[in-house]
Amino acid sequence: MNHEINENGKPEIENETRNGKCPECGAEMVFSPEKSALECPYCGNTVAVDFSQTSKERDFSELFNVADKWGGETHVFRCNNCGAKEVLSKNEIAKACPFCGTTNIVVTDELSGLKPNGIVPFAIDKKTAAAKVKMWAKRKLYAPRAFKKSVAPEGIAGTYNPAFTFDADAFVVYRGVLGKHYTVTRTVNGKTVTETRTRYFNIGGTFDMRFDDILIQASEKISQRDINKLRPFDTNESNEYSTEFLHGFSAQQYEKSGEECWTEARRLIEQIVKSRILAKYDYDVIQSYSQRVETNNVTYKYLLLPIYVGHCKWKKKLYNFFVNGHNGNVTGKTPVSAVKVLITVLIGLGVVVGLGLLFYYLFSGT
Ligand SMILES: [Zn+2]
Ligand SMILES: [Zn+2]
Repeated sequence: MNHEINENGKPEIENETRNGKCPECGAEMVFSPEKSALECPYCGNTVAVDFSQTSKERDFSELFNVADKWGGETHVFRCNNCGAKEVLSKNEIAKACPFCGTTNIVVTDELSGLKPNGIVPFAIDKKTAAAKVKMWAKRKLYAPRAFKKSVAPEGIAGTYNPAFTFDADAFVVYRGVLGKHYTVTRTVNGKTVTETRTRYFNIGGTFDMRFDDILIQASEKISQRDINKLRPFDTNESNEYSTEFLHGFSAQQYEKSGEECWTEARRLIEQIVKSRILAKYDYDVIQSYSQRVETNNVTYKYLLLPIYVGHCKWKKKLYNFFVNGHNGNVTGKTPVSAVKVLITVLIGLGVVVGLGLLFYYLFSGT
């Protein structure tokens, strides 16, 4: 049991539900997305969870304060098969890896790192998520039929995915030379010729832009591309992190630090301001362009995003698919059936040949 020091300097003993234990029967309670409460899987008792606290932006400097703040209430497991690292609340143990399904999982003495300060809780349950996966697989026209059948949505597991969001004010000083094409018509040796020429002009000035919640994925088990496909996550409405939300779920340990994620966010900011600035001008070519970007009032949130992860082995290859545990969006890769693609091509060719024949009969002088 943890003894935290409260504002009065007195040790505060965690109550039973913060510990995840059922006050009625003492069993481990789990967070129920359906009921938005902690639920005891044995006696059905429910305990309300506080949803009233929205997460707060943190000052950028806190990003470097990486003392092991989360370690007291969690521990880290590593999958010996695929290397996934999962954070679970202290009295739960990892059973099967959500990414590869293996049970070859060991507890490590690694630190859980920064404690999240925001969480988008799971809002749909596993059954609903599984139904979404089934529908998604059905729509994958080119996936082999046997693969679709072997996509076992029952095997999906809910795991929170770590991400950093950043807010920042960008101030840009820029300069450059842009060119616009124009044509001239001349007479050369009695012939009229048209030539394309380029008129160059200087640009320069300052530009301001406010960025809100730039989302950077911090786990390497799910790509930024997949996260973008699963969006939105409603990060502005995220709750203040509280350990209750983790019960019955796991969280992926972040592999990219907050600092690395900020470097990525900075790169994104630079790309966005550049395209916004250039969009103000009418040009065809960029002869030169340079900008100096200053970012101020940077704040961040270290967020956990709810994702159901599923896996399917097909011809010795592992395919993962993901469901947004907040809105049910699904994404993932499937194998492509060569036969199905061939049939489509043949049908396409058949239509072309058929139309050709039709026109031939219609217009061949009958
Ligand atoms: Zn109970
Ligand atoms: Zn694994």
